[in-house]
Amino acid sequence: MEQEMVKQIKQDEILRATLAGGEAVCFLARTTKLCDDARAAHGASPLASAVLGRTLTMTAIMCLSSLKNDDDRLTVTLDGKSLIGKVVCGGRTPALVKGYVEDPYLELPLNEKGKLDVAWAVGKDGNMNVIRDLGLKEPYVGRARLVSGEIAEDFAFYFTVSEQTPSLVALGVHVAQDTTVDSAGGILVQPLPGCSEETLQKLEKLADKLSSVSSLIAEYESLDDIMAYLFGEEVPYNILQRQEPKFECDCSRERIERALIAMGYEELKAMRDEDGKAELWCNFCNTTYDFTGEDLDELLASMRA
Ligand SMILES: [Zn+2]
Repeated sequence: MEQEMVKQIKQDEILRATLAGGEAVCFLARTTKLCDDARAAHGASPLASAVLGRTLTMTAIMCLSSLKNDDDRLTVTLDGKSLIGKVVCGGRTPALVKGYVEDPYLELPLNEKGKLDVAWAVGKDGNMNVIRDLGLKEPYVGRARLVSGEIAEDFAFYFTVSEQTPSLVALGVHVAQDTTVDSAGGILVQPLPGCSEETLQKLEKLADKLSSVSSLIAEYESLDDIMAYLFGEEVPYNILQRQEPKFECDCSRERIERALIAMGYEELKAMRDEDGKAELWCNFCNTTYDFTGEDLDELLASMRA
C-alpha cells in the first residue's frame, strides 16, 4: 500500500448543535489552520502555540455562542502570573479571532506525561477575564480565578462560577516535529435549563472520550464523524450551523493613523521632530506599521485642516 504523502489541510470549522432535543447545546471546532496561522504570525514556540491555540479556539467558539452583531467584541485575558505572561485574545463575529501571549518564544521541559507544560507556562496565580462589548452602555465583564492553567479546565470553571453555566470543555493543540500545528480543536457542551438528569449523566460520561481532542481531530475525517463517535445513538443531536473560524486581525493602517491622530497635534508633532518617523506594532498579529517623516507631516497637515 502506498501511503498518501501529501498532507491535506482540512478547512477549519465550528459546528453548533443541539443535543437531546434541545436539552443541551454543543460546539465542536476544528481549528488546525487557525492555530497554525497564529503560530506563524508570532513565530511562536511549540509551547506558546499550544497556549495561544487553546485560548483562541475557545474564543472562536464563544464568538459563535455569545456575539450577534458586526460591532460586538469579545476579549479573553488569562493572567496566571507565570512564565508566558498574559494571554490575550480578541474575537468578533462570526468567528474571527486574534491574540497574543507576552512571551511567544517560551520553552519549558515537558511535563511528567511527556506533554507541553501548558499549566506551568500559564500559571494559576490569577484570573481569567472575559469582556463582551455588545454595543450596550456598559460592556459585560466576567471574571473567575484560574484553577489549573491548563486552559480548558479554567474555561469550564469560569463558565460555572461566572456565567452560572456548568460546562464541559476540552481543548487540544498538537504541534508536529517541524513545530507547525498539525491538529487542533475544541468542544464546549452546556446543558440548558430543564436538562434531564438522564441527559446530564450521559454528558458527564463524554469526558472519557475527550481526553485528547487533537487526536480526534487528527483521526477522524470530519467533525460530523466526531459527533457520531461522541454522541452516536446515545444522545440524539441536530446540527444547526457550520462556520469557518479564522485567525484574522482587525488592525489596519487607517486604524493606526486614527490612533496617531488621537495622540493630539502637539504630541504627534513632538514625535515627528524628535524621531523623524514612527514605527507602530499590532501585538495581536505582530504586524508593524511604518510611518515616514513625510507620512507624519501629511497627518499633521490633515489635523490642521
Ligand atoms: Zn493586528
